[in-house]
Amino acid sequence: MKNNKNKCWAGYFGDCEGEITAEHLISKSLFPEGIVFVEGFDWCENIKKVGVNSLTRKILCKKHNNDFSILDSEAKYAINCFAKGKTERPIDGFLFERWLLKTAINLSVDSNFHIGIGFTDSEKGYPSPYAVALALGKQPFAYKMGIYFLENKEGYLNNPTEQLMMPITMDNEIGLFLFGLRGANLLLNLTPAHEVPKLSSIGLYESLPVEVKDNKPIYRPQGFTNMNIESGLIHSIEFSYI
Ligand SMILES: [Zn+2]
Repeated sequence: MKNNKNKCWAGYFGDCEGEITAEHLISKSLFPEGIVFVEGFDWCENIKKVGVNSLTRKILCKKHNNDFSILDSEAKYAINCFAKGKTERPIDGFLFERWLLKTAINLSVDSNFHIGIGFTDSEKGYPSPYAVALALGKQPFAYKMGIYFLENKEGYLNNPTEQLMMPITMDNEIGLFLFGLRGANLLLNLTPAHEVPKLSSIGLYESLPVEVKDNKPIYRPQGFTNMNIESGLIHSIEFSYI
């Protein structure tokens, strides 16, 4: 593996500027409790519950860190919508999808996995030029790549302290990334031209909760409704992809 220390991962296009700044791998303002559950990487074999503040590394230059702030803002809005169970305006699905990818890359830098399946010039633990182009919005996600929602008809608990982020890997490649954000379970599909099946149908992750492994992932829905178990209220979230 190349030594990628103190190198900006978004630098393939030669437009880095400024210092390599310490980046929170997971935007900390999004999670008021400051705690997330991260699974599936070497470094979290024994620790799964991590304080967001402890996850900072020098992996982006100042310019690219700034370029991504629009993604952080949309993700903050989206996650607040999940928590409240309603949207004031539709969530921008494309920006949110890019934030999921940016976060997946942040967590995967220096891991033993390729980020995405079959991306050209990919190396383990570092995003390929294509993955970077997607995160920067320079290219659209390939057919059937992007966000899927895990429908949950049973309702959910909206526990502010339970945020889950986990790569789903096969043969050293991250094909999917699972996010559980304020009660909304989402998958980021990094496998071009493949619709995501139920996770249980591919025999993966028996330990996951039923609503994650047995529900059908829905590709880029315009919205979803869920019953909140605690409040009994119907939650209705809208997305747009323009
Ligand atoms: Zn850069």
